[in-house]
Amino acid sequence: MNTFDVAIVGGGVIGASIAFELAGENLRVVIFDRQQPGQEASWAAAGMLSSAPDSPRDIPLTPLGRESLRLYPSFVAAIEEESGRSASYMRDGAIEILLAPHGEIDRDQMVAEYRLLDLAVEAISLSAARKLEKSFTPDARAALWFPEEATVEPRLLMEALLAAAQNRGVAIRSDCRVTRLLCEQNRCLGVIAGGEKIEAAHAVVAAGCFSGELADGAAHLARLLPTRPVRGQMLALRHESFRLNRVLRSERGYLVPRRDGRIVAGSTKEEAGFEKRVTAAGIRKVLDAAIELCPSLAAAEIVETWSGLRPGTPDDLPILGPTDIAGLSIATGHYRNGILLAPITAKLIREWIVRGRTDFDTAAFSPLRFDRALSSRAGIA
Ligand SMILES: Cc1cc2nc3c(=O)[nH]c(=O)nc-3n(C[C@H](O)[C@H](O)[C@H](O)COP(=O)(O)OP(=O)(O)OC[C@H]3O[C@@H](n4cnc5c(N)ncnc54)[C@H](O)[C@@H]3O)c2cc1C
Repeated sequence: MNTFDVAIVGGGVIGASIAFELAGENLRVVIFDRQQPGQEASWAAAGMLSSAPDSPRDIPLTPLGRESLRLYPSFVAAIEEESGRSASYMRDGAIEILLAPHGEIDRDQMVAEYRLLDLAVEAISLSAARKLEKSFTPDARAALWFPEEATVEPRLLMEALLAAAQNRGVAIRSDCRVTRLLCEQNRCLGVIAGGEKIEAAHAVVAAGCFSGELADGAAHLARLLPTRPVRGQMLALRHESFRLNRVLRSERGYLVPRRDGRIVAGSTKEEAGFEKRVTAAGIRKVLDAAIELCPSLAAAEIVETWSGLRPGTPDDLPILGPTDIAGLSIATGHYRNGILLAPITAKLIREWIVRGRTDFDTAAFSPLRFDRALSSRAGIA
Protein backbone atom coordinates (compact mmCIF):
# COMPACT_ATOMS: atom_id res chain seq x y z
CA MET A 1 0.00 0.00 0.00
CA ASN A 2 1.36 3.41 -0.92
CA THR A 3 -1.46 5.60 0.34
CA PHE A 4 -1.70 6.67 3.98
CA ASP A 5 -3.44 9.24 6.11
CA VAL A 6 -0.12 10.32 7.65
CA ALA A 7 3.46 9.78 6.47
CA ILE A 8 6.09 10.49 9.13
CA VAL A 9 9.70 11.15 8.14
CA GLY A 10 11.96 9.81 10.92
CA GLY A 11 11.51 7.04 13.47
CA GLY A 12 13.21 8.59 16.50
CA VAL A 13 11.35 9.26 19.74
CA ILE A 14 9.45 12.14 18.14
CA GLY A 15 8.30 10.39 14.95
CA ALA A 16 7.46 7.16 16.79
CA SER A 17 5.50 8.96 19.54
CA ILE A 18 3.48 10.87 16.96
CA ALA A 19 2.79 7.66 15.04
CA PHE A 20 1.67 5.86 18.21
CA GLU A 21 -0.66 8.71 19.14
CA LEU A 22 -2.17 9.05 15.65
CA ALA A 23 -2.68 5.30 15.27
CA GLY A 24 -4.86 5.56 18.40
CA GLU A 25 -7.22 7.68 16.23
CA ASN A 26 -7.53 4.86 13.69
CA LEU A 27 -5.49 6.72 11.11
CA ARG A 28 -3.33 4.80 8.64
CA VAL A 29 0.17 5.87 9.58
CA VAL A 30 3.57 5.05 8.11
CA ILE A 31 7.03 5.87 9.50
CA PHE A 32 9.99 6.07 7.12
CA ASP A 33 13.49 5.82 8.52
CA ARG A 34 16.63 5.83 6.43
CA GLN A 35 18.18 3.23 8.80
CA GLN A 36 16.77 1.12 11.63
CA PRO A 37 14.52 3.53 13.56
CA GLY A 38 15.56 4.77 17.00
CA GLN A 39 19.32 4.68 16.39
CA GLU A 40 20.16 8.40 16.36
CA ALA A 41 19.77 11.07 19.07
CA SER A 42 16.98 9.11 20.74
CA TRP A 43 19.34 6.17 21.26
CA ALA A 44 22.13 8.39 22.63
CA ALA A 45 20.11 10.35 25.20
CA ALA A 46 20.58 10.24 28.95
CA GLY A 47 16.84 10.07 29.57
CA MET A 48 16.47 12.84 32.16
CA LEU A 49 12.95 14.23 32.31
CA SER A 50 13.57 17.72 33.65
CA SER A 51 11.61 20.83 32.75
CA ALA A 52 14.03 23.18 34.58
CA PRO A 53 15.59 25.56 32.02
CA ASP A 54 19.35 25.25 31.42
CA SER A 55 19.61 28.89 30.34
CA PRO A 56 17.33 31.93 29.89
CA ARG A 57 16.89 30.90 26.23
CA ASP A 58 15.05 27.78 27.44
CA ILE A 59 12.45 29.68 29.46
CA PRO A 60 9.73 29.67 26.73
CA LEU A 61 10.01 25.88 26.78
CA THR A 62 9.16 25.49 30.45
CA PRO A 63 5.34 25.25 30.17
CA LEU A 64 5.71 22.66 27.39
CA GLY A 65 8.23 20.68 29.47
CA ARG A 66 6.04 20.82 32.59
CA GLU A 67 3.02 19.57 30.68
CA SER A 68 5.04 16.78 29.05
CA LEU A 69 6.41 15.68 32.42
CA ARG A 70 2.81 15.55 33.69
CA LEU A 71 1.78 13.40 30.71
CA TYR A 72 4.71 10.99 31.10
CA PRO A 73 3.21 8.37 33.45
CA SER A 74 0.16 7.83 31.23
CA PHE A 75 2.28 7.98 28.05
CA VAL A 76 4.63 5.27 29.36
CA ALA A 77 1.74 3.19 30.73
CA ALA A 78 0.03 3.17 27.31
CA ILE A 79 3.26 2.20 25.54
CA GLU A 80 4.11 -0.51 28.05
CA GLU A 81 0.60 -1.94 27.93
CA GLU A 82 0.54 -2.01 24.12
CA SER A 83 4.06 -3.44 23.76
CA GLY A 84 4.45 -5.60 26.88
CA ARG A 85 7.92 -3.99 27.37
CA SER A 86 9.31 -1.70 30.05
CA ALA A 87 10.66 1.77 29.33
CA SER A 88 12.22 1.87 32.82
CA TYR A 89 10.42 5.05 33.87
CA MET A 90 11.46 6.12 37.38
CA ARG A 91 10.15 9.14 39.24
CA ASP A 92 12.78 9.50 41.94
CA GLY A 93 13.50 13.24 41.72
CA ALA A 94 16.83 14.94 41.02
CA ILE A 95 19.44 16.73 43.11
CA GLU A 96 21.48 19.64 41.81
CA ILE A 97 24.74 20.27 43.65
CA LEU A 98 26.26 23.76 43.66
CA LEU A 99 30.04 23.84 43.92
CA ALA A 100 30.92 27.54 43.65
CA PRO A 101 31.98 29.38 46.85
CA HIS A 102 28.75 31.47 46.71
CA GLY A 103 26.64 28.32 46.15
CA GLU A 104 24.04 29.21 48.79
CA ILE A 105 23.34 32.59 47.19
CA ASP A 106 23.04 30.94 43.75
CA ARG A 107 20.72 28.29 45.21
CA ASP A 108 18.32 30.86 46.68
CA GLN A 109 18.28 32.80 43.44
CA MET A 110 17.59 29.64 41.43
CA VAL A 111 14.74 28.62 43.74
CA ALA A 112 13.15 32.05 43.34
CA GLU A 113 13.51 31.96 39.54
CA TYR A 114 12.25 28.39 39.17
CA ARG A 115 9.24 29.05 41.39
CA LEU A 116 8.25 31.94 39.14
CA LEU A 117 8.15 29.32 36.37
CA ASP A 118 5.90 27.09 38.50
CA LEU A 119 8.56 24.39 38.85
CA ALA A 120 8.58 22.07 41.84
CA VAL A 121 11.90 22.85 43.55
CA GLU A 122 13.18 23.07 47.14
CA ALA A 123 16.37 24.36 48.72
CA ILE A 124 17.59 21.49 50.90
CA SER A 125 20.46 21.29 53.36
CA LEU A 126 23.53 19.30 52.37
CA SER A 127 22.81 16.81 55.14
CA ALA A 128 19.26 16.29 53.82
CA ALA A 129 20.67 15.86 50.32
CA ARG A 130 23.19 13.34 51.62
CA LYS A 131 20.36 11.26 53.12
CA LEU A 132 18.95 10.96 49.59
CA GLU A 133 22.27 10.44 47.80
CA LYS A 134 25.36 9.78 49.85
CA SER A 135 28.24 9.85 47.37
CA PHE A 136 28.47 13.47 46.26
CA THR A 137 31.59 15.51 46.93
CA PRO A 138 32.42 16.97 50.37
CA ASP A 139 33.23 20.20 48.47
CA ALA A 140 29.51 20.80 47.77
CA ARG A 141 28.31 24.24 48.93
CA ALA A 142 24.54 23.93 48.47
CA ALA A 143 21.84 21.66 47.05
CA LEU A 144 18.52 21.90 45.25
CA TRP A 145 15.85 19.18 45.19
CA PHE A 146 13.49 18.63 42.24
CA PRO A 147 10.96 16.12 43.62
CA GLU A 148 8.93 15.69 40.41
CA GLU A 149 11.76 14.94 38.01
CA ALA A 150 11.99 11.47 36.50
CA THR A 151 14.04 9.35 34.10
CA VAL A 152 13.49 6.76 31.38
CA GLU A 153 16.01 4.54 29.64
CA PRO A 154 15.83 5.91 26.08
CA ARG A 155 16.96 2.71 24.35
CA LEU A 156 14.27 0.72 26.18
CA LEU A 157 11.71 3.45 25.57
CA MET A 158 12.46 3.34 21.83
CA GLU A 159 12.09 -0.45 21.66
CA ALA A 160 8.81 -0.30 23.54
CA LEU A 161 7.50 2.66 21.53
CA LEU A 162 8.25 1.12 18.13
CA ALA A 163 6.70 -2.21 19.17
CA ALA A 164 3.65 -0.37 20.57
CA ALA A 165 3.25 1.68 17.39
CA GLN A 166 3.46 -1.46 15.27
CA ASN A 167 0.89 -3.20 17.48
CA ARG A 168 -1.45 -0.29 16.84
CA GLY A 169 -1.05 -0.85 13.10
CA VAL A 170 1.66 1.67 12.21
CA ALA A 171 3.67 0.58 9.14
CA ILE A 172 7.40 0.98 9.79
CA ARG A 173 9.60 1.15 6.71
CA SER A 174 13.23 0.86 7.83
CA ASP A 175 16.23 1.57 5.58
CA CYS A 176 13.92 3.71 3.46
CA ARG A 177 15.09 7.26 3.06
CA VAL A 178 12.72 10.09 2.23
CA THR A 179 14.41 12.08 -0.49
CA ARG A 180 11.68 14.60 -1.18
CA LEU A 181 8.52 16.13 0.16
CA LEU A 182 5.95 16.23 -2.63
CA CYS A 183 4.78 19.82 -2.45
CA GLU A 184 2.75 21.44 -5.22
CA GLN A 185 1.13 24.85 -5.10
CA ASN A 186 1.35 25.17 -1.34
CA ARG A 187 0.02 21.70 -0.68
CA CYS A 188 1.97 18.64 0.42
CA LEU A 189 0.69 15.49 -1.29
CA GLY A 190 3.08 12.96 0.23
CA VAL A 191 6.75 12.01 0.02
CA ILE A 192 9.22 10.19 -2.18
CA ALA A 193 10.62 7.36 -0.06
CA GLY A 194 12.99 4.66 -1.28
CA GLY A 195 12.40 5.95 -4.81
CA GLU A 196 8.61 5.40 -4.57
CA LYS A 197 5.82 7.93 -4.51
CA ILE A 198 3.87 7.72 -1.26
CA GLU A 199 0.58 9.60 -1.11
CA ALA A 200 -0.54 10.94 2.25
CA ALA A 201 -3.08 13.51 3.40
CA HIS A 202 -0.52 14.71 5.97
CA ALA A 203 3.26 14.54 6.07
CA VAL A 204 5.14 15.17 9.32
CA VAL A 205 8.87 15.94 9.29
CA ALA A 206 10.45 14.42 12.41
CA ALA A 207 13.93 13.70 11.09
CA GLY A 208 15.85 15.21 14.02
CA CYS A 209 19.02 17.11 13.13
CA PHE A 210 18.77 15.78 9.55
CA SER A 211 15.42 17.51 8.95
CA GLY A 212 17.06 20.41 7.09
CA GLU A 213 18.32 17.99 4.43
CA LEU A 214 14.73 17.53 3.27
CA ALA A 215 14.66 21.11 2.04
CA ASP A 216 17.21 20.03 -0.60
CA GLY A 217 17.95 23.61 -1.56
CA ALA A 218 14.29 24.64 -1.89
CA ALA A 219 14.06 28.03 -0.16
CA HIS A 220 10.36 27.66 0.80
CA LEU A 221 11.24 24.47 2.77
CA ALA A 222 14.64 25.60 4.07
CA ARG A 223 13.02 28.48 6.00
CA LEU A 224 10.85 25.95 7.86
CA LEU A 225 13.68 23.53 8.71
CA PRO A 226 16.78 25.36 9.96
CA THR A 227 18.09 22.40 12.00
CA ARG A 228 21.71 21.63 12.81
CA PRO A 229 23.50 18.86 14.74
CA VAL A 230 24.92 19.55 18.21
CA ARG A 231 27.12 16.68 19.31
CA GLY A 232 26.89 15.24 22.80
CA GLN A 233 29.44 12.73 24.08
CA MET A 234 28.50 10.35 26.88
CA LEU A 235 29.86 7.44 28.82
CA ALA A 236 28.63 4.72 31.15
CA LEU A 237 30.43 3.75 34.35
CA ARG A 238 30.14 0.83 36.72
CA HIS A 239 31.51 0.51 40.24
CA GLU A 240 30.45 -2.39 42.47
CA SER A 241 30.38 -0.30 45.67
CA PHE A 242 28.81 2.84 44.15
CA ARG A 243 25.04 3.09 43.97
CA LEU A 244 23.13 6.05 42.54
CA ASN A 245 19.39 6.22 43.12
CA ARG A 246 18.43 9.36 41.25
CA VAL A 247 19.80 12.04 38.94
CA LEU A 248 22.66 14.02 40.44
CA ARG A 249 23.90 17.06 38.55
CA SER A 250 26.13 20.08 38.80
CA GLU A 251 26.69 23.05 36.55
CA ARG A 252 29.27 21.01 34.62
CA GLY A 253 27.67 17.60 34.15
CA TYR A 254 25.17 14.99 35.26
CA LEU A 255 24.92 11.38 36.42
CA VAL A 256 21.88 9.24 35.65
CA PRO A 257 21.30 5.79 37.17
CA ARG A 258 20.28 2.78 35.09
CA ARG A 259 18.36 -0.14 36.51
CA ASP A 260 21.27 -2.54 35.90
CA GLY A 261 23.57 -0.45 38.15
CA ARG A 262 25.37 1.42 35.36
CA ILE A 263 25.75 5.17 35.74
CA VAL A 264 25.45 7.31 32.64
CA ALA A 265 27.56 10.49 32.67
CA GLY A 266 27.09 13.42 30.32
CA SER A 267 27.66 15.42 28.29
CA THR A 268 29.45 17.70 25.87
CA LYS A 269 27.72 20.28 23.67
CA GLU A 270 29.74 20.65 20.47
CA GLU A 271 29.30 22.16 17.03
CA ALA A 272 31.05 19.36 15.12
CA GLY A 273 28.81 18.97 12.07
CA PHE A 274 27.47 15.45 11.46
CA GLU A 275 30.67 13.89 12.90
CA LYS A 276 29.77 11.39 15.66
CA ARG A 277 33.34 10.57 16.72
CA VAL A 278 33.98 10.14 20.46
CA THR A 279 37.06 12.24 21.27
CA ALA A 280 39.66 12.20 24.02
CA ALA A 281 38.88 15.80 24.96
CA GLY A 282 35.15 15.13 25.04
CA ILE A 283 35.46 12.10 27.30
CA ARG A 284 37.92 13.91 29.56
CA LYS A 285 35.43 16.74 30.01
CA VAL A 286 32.60 14.36 30.92
CA LEU A 287 34.82 12.32 33.26
CA ASP A 288 36.20 15.42 35.01
CA ALA A 289 32.67 16.64 35.74
CA ALA A 290 31.58 13.17 36.95
CA ILE A 291 34.55 12.74 39.30
CA GLU A 292 34.25 16.30 40.57
CA LEU A 293 30.64 15.55 41.49
CA CYS A 294 31.32 12.08 42.98
CA PRO A 295 35.06 11.59 43.67
CA SER A 296 34.67 7.85 44.34
CA LEU A 297 33.78 7.40 40.66
CA ALA A 298 37.49 7.80 39.91
CA ALA A 299 37.77 4.06 40.56
CA ALA A 300 34.80 3.11 38.34
CA GLU A 301 35.12 1.05 35.18
CA ILE A 302 34.25 2.79 31.89
CA VAL A 303 31.86 0.33 30.25
CA GLU A 304 30.75 2.29 27.20
CA THR A 305 31.35 5.57 25.39
CA TRP A 306 29.16 7.02 22.64
CA SER A 307 27.92 10.23 21.10
CA GLY A 308 24.74 11.53 19.50
CA LEU A 309 23.57 14.51 17.50
CA ARG A 310 20.96 16.72 19.12
CA PRO A 311 18.61 18.51 16.73
CA GLY A 312 19.49 22.18 17.32
CA THR A 313 17.71 25.27 15.94
CA PRO A 314 18.73 28.94 15.68
CA ASP A 315 16.92 29.87 18.94
CA ASP A 316 17.33 26.47 20.70
CA LEU A 317 13.53 25.97 20.68
CA PRO A 318 11.70 23.16 18.89
CA ILE A 319 9.93 23.64 15.57
CA LEU A 320 6.39 22.40 16.06
CA GLY A 321 3.15 22.55 14.17
CA PRO A 322 1.42 23.06 10.85
CA THR A 323 3.08 25.18 8.18
CA ASP A 324 1.81 27.45 5.42
CA ILE A 325 1.98 24.40 3.13
CA ALA A 326 -1.32 22.53 3.57
CA GLY A 327 -0.80 18.95 4.76
CA LEU A 328 2.77 19.57 6.00
CA SER A 329 3.62 19.66 9.71
CA ILE A 330 6.98 19.84 11.44
CA ALA A 331 8.05 18.26 14.73
CA THR A 332 11.77 18.67 15.13
CA GLY A 333 14.50 20.73 16.77
CA HIS A 334 13.92 19.30 20.26
CA TYR A 335 17.60 19.87 20.98
CA ARG A 336 18.38 18.74 24.57
CA ASN A 337 14.80 17.84 25.50
CA GLY A 338 13.33 15.48 22.92
CA ILE A 339 12.85 12.58 25.31
CA LEU A 340 11.07 14.85 27.79
CA LEU A 341 8.97 16.52 25.08
CA ALA A 342 7.84 13.40 23.20
CA PRO A 343 4.41 13.05 24.90
CA ILE A 344 3.38 16.69 24.49
CA THR A 345 4.72 16.81 20.91
CA ALA A 346 2.69 13.72 19.99
CA LYS A 347 -0.43 15.19 21.61
CA LEU A 348 -0.07 18.56 19.86
CA ILE A 349 0.52 17.03 16.43
CA ARG A 350 -2.49 14.74 16.93
CA GLU A 351 -4.66 17.72 17.83
CA TRP A 352 -3.47 19.72 14.84
CA ILE A 353 -4.04 16.84 12.42
CA VAL A 354 -7.32 15.56 13.89
CA ARG A 355 -8.97 18.79 15.15
CA GLY A 356 -7.09 21.39 13.14
CA ARG A 357 -6.11 23.27 16.30
CA THR A 358 -4.73 23.03 19.82
CA ASP A 359 -5.49 25.07 22.94
CA PHE A 360 -1.85 25.10 24.07
CA ASP A 361 0.05 28.34 23.38
CA THR A 362 2.64 27.23 20.84
CA ALA A 363 3.41 30.54 19.11
CA ALA A 364 7.06 30.45 20.26
CA PHE A 365 7.55 27.14 18.41
CA SER A 366 5.82 27.99 15.13
CA PRO A 367 7.63 26.68 12.02
CA LEU A 368 6.94 30.10 10.48
CA ARG A 369 8.89 32.10 13.05
CA PHE A 370 12.20 32.06 11.15
CA ASP A 371 10.42 33.41 8.10
CA ARG A 372 8.98 36.25 10.20
CA ALA A 373 12.43 36.96 11.68
CA LEU A 374 13.90 37.17 8.18
CA SER A 375 11.11 39.46 6.96
CA SER A 376 11.49 41.84 9.91
CA ARG A 377 15.29 41.95 9.50
CA ALA A 378 14.74 42.84 5.84
CA GLY A 379 12.29 45.58 6.89
CA ILE A 380 9.27 43.77 5.41
CA ALA A 381 6.08 44.13 7.46
C1 LIG B 1 24.14 12.97 24.36
C2 LIG B 1 22.68 13.35 24.39
C3 LIG B 1 22.00 13.37 25.61
C4 LIG B 1 20.65 13.71 25.64
N1 LIG B 1 19.97 13.66 26.82
C5 LIG B 1 18.65 13.96 26.86
C6 LIG B 1 17.93 13.86 28.08
O1 LIG B 1 18.47 13.48 29.12
N2 LIG B 1 16.60 14.21 28.08
C7 LIG B 1 15.97 14.63 26.94
O2 LIG B 1 14.78 14.94 27.02
N3 LIG B 1 16.63 14.70 25.77
C8 LIG B 1 17.95 14.40 25.70
N4 LIG B 1 18.64 14.49 24.53
C9 LIG B 1 17.96 15.04 23.35
C10 LIG B 1 17.13 13.99 22.65
O3 LIG B 1 17.89 12.82 22.48
C11 LIG B 1 16.68 14.51 21.28
O4 LIG B 1 16.08 15.78 21.41
C12 LIG B 1 15.65 13.55 20.67
O5 LIG B 1 16.14 12.25 20.68
C13 LIG B 1 15.31 13.96 19.25
O6 LIG B 1 14.48 12.96 18.72
P1 LIG B 1 14.10 12.94 17.19
O7 LIG B 1 13.15 11.83 17.00
O8 LIG B 1 13.69 14.32 16.77
O9 LIG B 1 15.50 12.70 16.44
P2 LIG B 1 16.35 11.37 16.23
O10 LIG B 1 16.30 10.48 17.38
O11 LIG B 1 17.69 11.84 15.75
O12 LIG B 1 15.58 10.64 15.06
C14 LIG B 1 15.55 11.14 13.74
C15 LIG B 1 15.34 9.96 12.81
O13 LIG B 1 15.12 10.43 11.49
C16 LIG B 1 15.76 9.53 10.59
N5 LIG B 1 15.96 10.26 9.34
C17 LIG B 1 16.75 11.34 9.13
N6 LIG B 1 16.65 11.75 7.86
C18 LIG B 1 15.77 10.92 7.24
C19 LIG B 1 15.26 10.83 5.92
N7 LIG B 1 15.59 11.71 4.98
N8 LIG B 1 14.39 9.84 5.63
C20 LIG B 1 14.02 8.94 6.58
N9 LIG B 1 14.49 8.97 7.85
C21 LIG B 1 15.35 9.97 8.18
C22 LIG B 1 17.03 9.15 11.32
O14 LIG B 1 17.57 7.94 10.82
C23 LIG B 1 16.56 9.03 12.75
O15 LIG B 1 16.16 7.72 13.09
C24 LIG B 1 19.98 14.10 24.45
C25 LIG B 1 20.67 14.04 23.23
C26 LIG B 1 21.99 13.66 23.19
C27 LIG B 1 22.70 13.58 21.87
